[in-house]
Amino acid sequence: MPTNPESATVLHALFGGTFDPIHYGHLRPVEALAAEVGLNRVTLLPNHVPPHRPQPEANAQQRLKMVELAIADNPLFAVDDRELHRTTPSYTIETLETIRKERGAAQPLAFIIGQDSLLTLHKWHRWQSLLDVCHLLVLARPGYNDRMDTPELQQWLERHRVTDAPLLSQRPHGHIYLADTPELEISATEIRQRRHQGLNCDDLLPRSVQRYIELQGLYR
Ligand code: ATP
Repeated sequence: MPTNPESATVLHALFGGTFDPIHYGHLRPVEALAAEVGLNRVTLLPNHVPPHRPQPEANAQQRLKMVELAIADNPLFAVDDRELHRTTPSYTIETLETIRKERGAAQPLAFIIGQDSLLTLHKWHRWQSLLDVCHLLVLARPGYNDRMDTPELQQWLERHRVTDAPLLSQRPHGHIYLADTPELEISATEIRQRRHQGLNCDDLLPRSVQRYIELQGLYR
């Protein structure tokens, strides 16, 4: 697909996750990140979870519906459900390579991850190739320090890290940016556990998603 010269200077970001369910720990830090680095669109990419991994409690269609409900009134967000249509496992790098081809070589593109994911990034398939396709924007997450699992990952971070956000829109890929986003101590695991125990989740995720969870009888 040819690149639109105007869009080539606008940073587009993608945010992958299982979203079982989506919650404010995903939404609020990404909204803050958008203001911090100047994003006008963040596309959520719900993951296809391969059969040999622990399965989400909600099925793919329910996870997609919860994402759609959570972003319905917020023009910052869009959803791309391509991974959910796959019958075979897809690695993040492969999805990002496909999106890079669609957007053209000049489009600044970023992939958002939480601090916990950064610490174990070296376990991802072809992790070092991620920066050939996109920038990495890292959300702060409480309970996770800056210590990488391996020196290799630490050195890679130091080599590619930038602190100057405007650079991210000037180059199509290749940098890592650690964002100064609010730390929200919320996880999908906690929400599922609270639901299992019959506890209230009011401040943890949007009302529309909570209503859907109730209606579908999820996380009982
Ligand atoms: P689970 O508890 O089931 O592992 P999760 O809450 O970590 O789920 P995921 O869908 O696995 O949510 O996460 C998608 C992405 O969002 C990951 O990169 C993760 O690091 C990030 N993320 C999730 N919760 C937070 C949070 N509270 N703050 C910052 N980043 C987060």
